[in-house]
Amino acid sequence: MTVRIIDGKRLAAALRARVAAQIATLPFRPGLAAVLVGDDPASAIYVRNKDRAADSVGIGARTIRLPADISEEALITRIARLNADPAVDGILVQLPLPPQIVSQAVIEAVDPAKDVDGFHPLNVGRLASGYPELVPCTPAGVMKLLAEAGASLEGARALVLGRSGIVGRPMATLLLAAHATVTMAHSRTRDLAAECRGADVIVAATGRPEMVRGDWIAPGATVIDVGVNRLADGKLVGDVAFTEAVKVAGAITPVPGGVGPMTIACLLENTVTAALRRRG
Ligand code: NDP
Repeated sequence: MTVRIIDGKRLAAALRARVAAQIATLPFRPGLAAVLVGDDPASAIYVRNKDRAADSVGIGARTIRLPADISEEALITRIARLNADPAVDGILVQLPLPPQIVSQAVIEAVDPAKDVDGFHPLNVGRLASGYPELVPCTPAGVMKLLAEAGASLEGARALVLGRSGIVGRPMATLLLAAHATVTMAHSRTRDLAAECRGADVIVAATGRPEMVRGDWIAPGATVIDVGVNRLADGKLVGDVAFTEAVKVAGAITPVPGGVGPMTIACLLENTVTAALRRRG
């Protein structure tokens, strides 16, 4: 069987082009504000990439840089200003936040109508109750990658590895809504390899480099690797041992070039969705 490498870069470029074409028809320029607290280099790179991508499709992007020792109260006050700013359609707060700040309090401070990350409890609840509005970008991107791969989800056994609020949980909800039979695995799961072997679709989001081995994968399964892990030698790898998995899977996303570009493209799409809803 020949494996299909799912090209997230190409799919993301196509989505960005659609978003740009839609923005070109609008009488206004959607605005996206990223809040970056502290000077974590990885976060700075993510935010810079998001800014560039936003600019490239016609979204007015700006980054609000705040010191690492900012108080939770001051951060929430800054977010309230963005909530009230009519030029801002989307707000994203780059995570993780420094330890003195309770992330959930900050997430809840963002106006749900501008919550382009889809992390606010109102948006989480809407998704869980089957009426999604702003869906978290990474799982939304994974669903598009699965569609691109031609994965048939109805009745399929889907395994989500990881149960974080930003990836695993919304991912499982979306797969369930697509009529898959969903299993969620996590660090307390007894036999991860066996769970994987029983899956038609695996979405790996654990942050454990190359944890999913080739012999954990059922022949022909579709494997989506969300993980982004930097090894000691500087190499970027996913949560799946790609060179092994590629010999067994029916379709697989690479790292880099799979989920990552789609996450950013979906953020741009969410920004336009938020802008259109908010401005009627
Ligand atoms: P978290 O650390 O928040 O969650 C990791 C999840 O994996 C937890 O549910 C944890 O279980 C589970 N887990 C950890 N170790 C194991 C193990 N040995 N066996 C089974 N399950 C395990 O991570 P995120 O969800 O935020 O991110 C996951 C990965 O995805 C990271 O590599 C991150 O960099 C990447 N990522 C990539 C994005 C992209 O756009 N490409 C976007 C967001 C994240 P438990 O709950 O029991 O602790």
